[in-house]
Amino acid sequence: MDCINYRMNMLPYLKHELSIRKTRKLLSHVESCAECKEELKVQFLVMEGMKRLEYGKTFHLEEDFEESLKASVKEYKRRDTLQKFMLFVFYAGCMIVLLFLLKGILL
Ligand SMILES: [Zn+2]
Repeated sequence: MDCINYRMNMLPYLKHELSIRKTRKLLSHVESCAECKEELKVQFLVMEGMKRLEYGKTFHLEEDFEESLKASVKEYKRRDTLQKFMLFVFYAGCMIVLLFLLKGILL
């Protein structure tokens, strides 16, 4: 996917409206593309800045952006690990069932 496609997903990501699959792809791209990371940061700063102006909250937006990005990356890596573990459990279960079936056929 080109940078332009990732950039179209940034606003939905910031609004928490992007699918898990697209979020994973976007975050993975942003980790390796400095221009897109900068663009995401700008969109984050504008969006969060407007919200905080409305509610009169304090501004530490750059730090908040980095923290938000780290939390998202950590979350999708956790989901990946969980998914791999579930797949392992599934295949292990299949192997056990297969072994019992073979045992029944052979004996
Ligand atoms: Zn890019």
